[in-house]
Amino acid sequence: MRLDNSRESDNVEDRRASGPRIGGRGTIGIGTIVLALVAMYFGVDPSVVLQMAEGPPMQQEAPASRPPANDPQAIFVSKVLGETEDTWSAIFQKDLNRQYVAPKLVLFRGATPTACGTGQSAMGPFYCPGDSKVYIDLSFFDELQNRFKAPGDFAQAYVIAHEVGHHVQHLLGISDQVDNLRRRNPSQANALSVRMELQADCFAGLWAQRADAARNILEGGDVEEALGAATAIGDDRLQKQSQGYVVPDAFTHGSSAQRVRWFKRGLESGSIKQCDTFSASSL
Ligand SMILES: [Zn+2]
Repeated sequence: MRLDNSRESDNVEDRRASGPRIGGRGTIGIGTIVLALVAMYFGVDPSVVLQMAEGPPMQQEAPASRPPANDPQAIFVSKVLGETEDTWSAIFQKDLNRQYVAPKLVLFRGATPTACGTGQSAMGPFYCPGDSKVYIDLSFFDELQNRFKAPGDFAQAYVIAHEVGHHVQHLLGISDQVDNLRRRNPSQANALSVRMELQADCFAGLWAQRADAARNILEGGDVEEALGAATAIGDDRLQKQSQGYVVPDAFTHGSSAQRVRWFKRGLESGSIKQCDTFSASSL
């Protein structure tokens, strides 16, 4: 990948130095509640005790710290995120006549609080629509290279672009519609998830095509790297590795072949209309 001409995003929030913040200051423990009950018994307003226990606002709400300048991996992530911002802003403006609102990207280690519950690195990178943030523990990229045998910078960029694809789905109201459908048809929940995931792959391909057309970011071998990653993290592959057999009903991301097909579809067409996985008769 060529990112010399790419700017770094301002939307990276680096939580790596602080480590897991679960259950830290600012939480109300059982002890506090007991104390509040005792206070109530003695005629003290319990909210005073609760307020005291809560203390100053959680550190979490302090301005996001940016990654250090001597951290090539964080700079890479920041540049790829910047590329998604510039590309999606242009697509939203030109193709959808709308304003793109960029997501934040949180770098964390181990575990971190999110609006979707506790984020854990074992879950792999994910997007939380509740706070419009992409969460990544960078150790996933080592795993991508070593465990999934999908090396290369563009394989990593594809993973980020896929998560940003979920943000685009959120902005366009697709995620909400799918959530409603899932609630009404629980038996279709997995099939709907697959269509969501394949659309995020198609959006990743579309991003790559548009970003390359604008700033020449692709180098020889890059597309193969992304396809390698799409193959490696298809559900059939992941299931074979973890259980030794494949259970198609439990698919939530699509098979390796499907992921490759939809990424390519976005990449080759460069058109958002081509990414309608929901009306596609075959995936
Ligand atoms: Zn996904």
